[in-house]
Amino acid sequence: ERAALEAAPVTPGSLADGTPVPLLANLGSADGAAEALKLGAEGVGLFRTEFLFLDADSAPSVREQQEHYTRLLTAFAGKKVVVRVLDAGADKPLSFLNDAPEENPALGLRGIRALRHAEVILREQLTALAAADAATSAELWVMAPMIATVEETRYFHALATELGIRVTGVMVETPSAALIADRVLAACDFASIGTNDLTQYTMAADRLLGTVANLQSPWHPAVLQLIADVGRAGAAAGKPVGICGEAAADPLLAVVLVGLGATSLSMSPSALADVRASLARYSQDDAKALAQAALAAEGAAEAKQAAHAAASEIT
Ligand code: PEP
Ligand code: MG
Repeated sequence: ERAALEAAPVTPGSLADGTPVPLLANLGSADGAAEALKLGAEGVGLFRTEFLFLDADSAPSVREQQEHYTRLLTAFAGKKVVVRVLDAGADKPLSFLNDAPEENPALGLRGIRALRHAEVILREQLTALAAADAATSAELWVMAPMIATVEETRYFHALATELGIRVTGVMVETPSAALIADRVLAACDFASIGTNDLTQYTMAADRLLGTVANLQSPWHPAVLQLIADVGRAGAAAGKPVGICGEAAADPLLAVVLVGLGATSLSMSPSALADVRASLARYSQDDAKALAQAALAAEGAAEAKQAAHAAASEIT
């Protein structure tokens, strides 16, 4: 019986009323693809490319990158794969990209800023991705990290399009990008909210610093309000708004995020089953009720409590 249970196909993510909520995997290497698929990932919502570059004195060649991306896209044939271009800087400095030490690296030359500074690295990565896309049948979307302005969005969209990328988007992980999400979304095809950095920057609390960890909660209504703004902008523009930060892996917060307008959730594969089971308990209206309860709360703890209370009235 146990074997039969394990072999049962995993159903796609959806709410109790049948509204689909694709559940995607956060991956850092093509090596994780088989396990993610086994756990029911419907695609990849965040492929972090940093590891390909770490511990290297120079960027990997276009050919090396192309081989790795082809392996990833082949594993997810017919499915959506969202790849993030290199997010170096801050806590992930690279010798060939970050030449000067910074006093405030989280606010420095990181993400898209660092790539613009060394554009050849971005060009090579996009070239490798476009070549892998052309050779495989997955649906490749490519996004840029640490976008703060519409101008950066336009820059990334123009360069990626020039190099053959068909679907371009941005990570919304700065309050700035969230606050002007309507204009950011007008300049690209989709947004994916990185709740780890969005929380860090909204609360002005270093995500790596234990002494301010109490402030680093994506349940905080200030963070939820920004997510709601992005969700509204996405709905108005008819463009997808995914979530790819740790928040999506919290089964109750996942429901709140859908209620705030998230159209897909991406997480580490081990979290997929619990989130899938949680979403199946609530309708779209329920999710909105939980979201409203959390949004109206005073702080992170109260928002979580309010969502629990609203949930217990439903199930
Ligand atoms: C995030 O900031 O939420 C995110 C998904 O990106 P990373 O954790 O890689 O910064
Ligand atoms: Mg981030």
